[in-house]
Amino acid sequence: MNTPAHTMEVWKFGGTSVATPERIREIVGLVRQEPGRRVVVVSALGGVTDQLLRGIDAALARSDAHRDVLTDLRARHDATVEALTDGDERERLQATLAPIWDELGELLDGVYLLRECTRRTRDAILATGERLSVPIVAAAFRAADTPATALDARSLIQTDGAFGEAEVQFGPTEARIREQFETLYAETPEAHVMVVTGFIAATAEGVTTTLGRSGSDYTATILARALQAERVVIWTDVDGVLSADPRLVDAAFPLERLSYREAAEMAYFGAKVLHPRTMRPVEASGIPLLIKNTMNPDAPGTLVTAEAVPTDRRVKAISTIRDVAVVMLEGRGLLGVPGTAARTFDALADRSINVLMISQASSEQSICTVVRRSEAEAAVDALEHAFRHELAQGDVSRVYALPDCAVVSAVGDQMRHMPGLAGRMFATLGRSGVNVLAIAQGAAETNISAVVRDADVKAAVDALHEAFPLRRTRAHLCVIGTGVVGSTLLDILQHQAPRLLDDLRLHLRLVGVTNSRRMRWDPSGLPLDTVLDALDQRGEPADLDDLVERLTASRLERLLVVDATASSDVARRYPELLEQGIGIVTPNKRANTLDMGFYHRLREAAARSEVSYRYEATVMAGLPVILTVRDLLRSGDTIERIEGVFSGTLAYLFRRLAEGASFSEAVREARAGGYTEPDPRDDLGGEDVARKLMILAREIGLEVERDDVRVEPLVPFAMMDGPVDAFMEQVDTLDAAWAERVAAAADDGKRLQYIGRVVDGRCRVGVEAIGPDSPFFALQGTDNAVLFTSERYRDNPLVVQGPGAGPAVTAAGILADLIKAAQLMP
Ligand code: ADP
Ligand code: ASP
Ligand code: MG
Repeated sequence: MNTPAHTMEVWKFGGTSVATPERIREIVGLVRQEPGRRVVVVSALGGVTDQLLRGIDAALARSDAHRDVLTDLRARHDATVEALTDGDERERLQATLAPIWDELGELLDGVYLLRECTRRTRDAILATGERLSVPIVAAAFRAADTPATALDARSLIQTDGAFGEAEVQFGPTEARIREQFETLYAETPEAHVMVVTGFIAATAEGVTTTLGRSGSDYTATILARALQAERVVIWTDVDGVLSADPRLVDAAFPLERLSYREAAEMAYFGAKVLHPRTMRPVEASGIPLLIKNTMNPDAPGTLVTAEAVPTDRRVKAISTIRDVAVVMLEGRGLLGVPGTAARTFDALADRSINVLMISQASSEQSICTVVRRSEAEAAVDALEHAFRHELAQGDVSRVYALPDCAVVSAVGDQMRHMPGLAGRMFATLGRSGVNVLAIAQGAAETNISAVVRDADVKAAVDALHEAFPLRRTRAHLCVIGTGVVGSTLLDILQHQAPRLLDDLRLHLRLVGVTNSRRMRWDPSGLPLDTVLDALDQRGEPADLDDLVERLTASRLERLLVVDATASSDVARRYPELLEQGIGIVTPNKRANTLDMGFYHRLREAAARSEVSYRYEATVMAGLPVILTVRDLLRSGDTIERIEGVFSGTLAYLFRRLAEGASFSEAVREARAGGYTEPDPRDDLGGEDVARKLMILAREIGLEVERDDVRVEPLVPFAMMDGPVDAFMEQVDTLDAAWAERVAAAADDGKRLQYIGRVVDGRCRVGVEAIGPDSPFFALQGTDNAVLFTSERYRDNPLVVQGPGAGPAVTAAGILADLIKAAQLMP
């Protein structure tokens, strides 16, 4: 992660992140990786809170099974302690945990004996999960030579006595946190980690309370605000906040940015990844919140701040609350009677029943209230009581509950600018055969919720996720070659990624990068911004065979390889990649200019597996040359001649010669300006132009081998071999001869230009003296130009002209190909 060094941050690790000793070691590694003050909030070991709840149920059922639950829990924690610590540390840890085990045993036995469990007792039992995990995690830090202190949040966070979902009293809480941490920080170095229990708190009298399920997220932001942390990172088991519950929607994807409000709405409407109150403390102080995956720390995660990045994607996500019931109050007598909704709400509030949603049918003949399923009966009872007179008089005909329902909500700050959304939601659900029991729009208009039968929930979420439109195409990308073109492409991709996502709904995920020395491969995604910095340190030794094997074994959908090298070794692998359904996009001219046998294999492989093989950038970089040829042919034209200046380098060189520069000067300038191939003789020898001409000739159906192209090189054959540096030292020996040729042309009012021609099926590349009547006479800078004379464009040829070289336009050409390749893939 790219954080400035030495920041103060609160990191929260959820149950899954501390589920096993291996995971605990991983989080210790994550925390140690960066300098800075870290407050680490941890949940109970994964699944422990649920197990404690089962223990309570077993005790209430008097089955003696609560003892088994206790034994299982103990065995699991003991094994974790043993795996992570030894010697004195282990003994001290066991001594710390022993009284908690005793207490838990007594509490469960108490429930068993009394046959009842108050909310207060329940909180005391649930709190043991975090009280056990925190000393273990702190010991794991120490075992890895990182000083750490375990802290019990009951001495830090003060709440009221609303057990099960206590309200935080921020005044005393912040004072306590600041005071205790001030002392702790005065006594410890920066690397000392404070490990704090999530989820639990205490009343002013010291009675244990909890902040509600998933409350550790909230603990983290409470601490962050009190300590004025620079950032909160919530580490969990998914790549961030996703566009829908991944357990319901396979196509759910991580959201890069959310506003505090969007995150809070998603959480309130059921996105389990965050506790609904998490955003409150940080919203007020503007502390950014990052949600990341412990198992995939390189993935960017979701950043939550005051402002989401404005996009035109108005619905950000679909969330769901399961396990709810709809309580209906029906009757003709409700028609036009004001205040019925308010009375309903009050009646339920009086019995502390949490109303998730209330909606009135437009006929006003029924009021529909959504509550937790466990509270449905109590709600019916409360309403029957509150409306007993109306029931007696027949104004209310009945009160009843539909037990197995779910709330499905569309969330997004920008939704208020989107009229007709409720109608669209209805229509979408209707088309998928989902019956909508009620619909409600939040007051802030940043969400719309529909109540459906629980049996329909998956169909409903899938349909909305698809319709809104949250669906997008993800293509996987592996870049071979990190020279100028490869690195420019990565840079462009990084900047264009949000736009590709918004405009084209295309998500390009980088999964592999290699140069000739090092490679990185990660099917879950590599960061575009830092992958090259990290390549030399974190990369494994490059191995093309190994990479090809990983590519073909990965079975990633829409996998595209960009070959940004000039290597034939890489080019020779194209057919096997294509055969495996992997698309190829390349500026590398080699593959298209090997022998015709290979050329045919390449085409057939691409056609057979129906994936893209695209190479627009091989000829004149980003200019649409291959595209033009294809469109002409596709539309029934016949191309008769192709003529062009295909080398920006040579165009530049001849312009400088015409301006009076010497040959050697011009070569050096072109090389310094980055216009030449790695070895400038690839340009000067005419080889590069010959290849481009071959590619075009083959594109129009000619069977051309390299030997069929007549090439006039600009340097004598004798100088074509040997090291580049030696060549650069000798290049001025050519100056006199070139000066003479240039002068001779000038005497005729002409200038020299390096031109490639395909005429009558023959290919020729060489220096020509051209006059002002030639379309190539006035070419500017490094511009290229190509003329197509065809049946349709005979008297007045079709011209494509412009900058035909340079990293930016080449990378842009590759990107255009990539987009087409990704979109066309099945
Ligand atoms: P932790 O133990 O780290 O607190 P949780 O299990 O509480 O993790 O929350 C993460 C889980 O939330 C994910 O594994 C996922 O199954 C579920 N989830 C539901 N909706 C969403 C969503 N919109 N985005 C991400 N995760 C979600
Ligand atoms: N352990 C608690 C729970 O499972 C709190 C948390 O994980 O955030 O709900
Ligand atoms: Mg959680």
